[in-house]
Amino acid sequence: MVNFSKTRKVVVIGTGFVGSSYAFALLNQGITNELVLIDLNRDKAEGEARDLNHGMPFGSPMKIRAGDYEECRDADLVVITAGANQAPGESRLDLVNKNAKIFKGIVNNIMEVGFNGIFVVATNPVDILSHVTLEVSGLPKERVIGSGTILDTARFRYLLSEYFQVDSRNVHGYIMGEHGDSELPVWSHVQIGGVPLDRYTNLMDETINKDMTNLFENVRDAAYHIIEQKGATYYGIGMGLARLTRAILHNENSIVTISTLVQGEYGLDDVYIGVPTIVNEYGVRQIVELQLTNTEQQQLRESAALLKEMTGKALEAIKEE
Ligand code: NAD
Repeated sequence: MVNFSKTRKVVVIGTGFVGSSYAFALLNQGITNELVLIDLNRDKAEGEARDLNHGMPFGSPMKIRAGDYEECRDADLVVITAGANQAPGESRLDLVNKNAKIFKGIVNNIMEVGFNGIFVVATNPVDILSHVTLEVSGLPKERVIGSGTILDTARFRYLLSEYFQVDSRNVHGYIMGEHGDSELPVWSHVQIGGVPLDRYTNLMDETINKDMTNLFENVRDAAYHIIEQKGATYYGIGMGLARLTRAILHNENSIVTISTLVQGEYGLDDVYIGVPTIVNEYGVRQIVELQLTNTEQQQLRESAALLKEMTGKALEAIKEE
């Protein structure tokens, strides 16, 4: 268990499936020592806090309670998982207008009490809402982080590990771009135990090549399949957010595929998009610039162009309000 020399306070806004799964992961892994749950539905937040507290004797000591926006004043991290989620068949981008307006209200409430920590955004479309959070909060870009393709990258590593029967922790690779339909697999940097994928297996083999294409499609479309089956996805992202929280609060300088404001890196400008990034207690330390193939670079450019257009519309929409 980690020994904290000081209190680290996390506030979660939105205690639906994602927010409560994240809270459960924090408790299980002892990542923080103070956790406040806020939801439009106060009863829901209180119920979750009670339920989580009853697990305390099986976990590590932590203060968990439901609260209001005043609690954000001295928070180290505010994690936003509030808002509408995807209905069956609905894309993440379809959610943009609904959630951009909800976000403006939430972020204003948080900033009004003098919040001066780090934002993590998980609500979809996450890249766009991270940019909305940056604009509304006025905080430096290093302190507004989207969960980006952290979950997609985990799905990718898991499916590769299943295919090659190697522990997913020894499988390295990234999904970059939009957390959504235009994301891309960075095949050129997949490694299994340090061995590049094209040396680990014969990618020229027609069957393997086809399997890899299917594998990526399963990563990209995972949310659609799970939503059809059980209505929402939450355990994977709950653990992904916990991983990101640990990297930030424990100053780990970890590389995670988060959504951050790209300004020149990868030849892209002024867009929140999923890229491998070094994260520590100050938030974003540095974007890691991989040498992409021409195809990957082109796919990333297309994903960024789509996000930039949609982000522009979302920012206009909240200005008009
Ligand atoms: P949910 O409907 O279960 O929970 C949303 C919660 O937000 C509800 O409890 C609701 O009361 C609350 N809420 C709504 N408006 C609010 C406001 N103004 N202030 C405070 N609370 C408010 O939804 P969910 O399944 O938890 O999904 C939440 C979001 O997370 C969705 O946008 C979903 O698409 C997204 N998501 C992201 C990822 C990712 O990888 N980033 C993965 C899964 C889901």
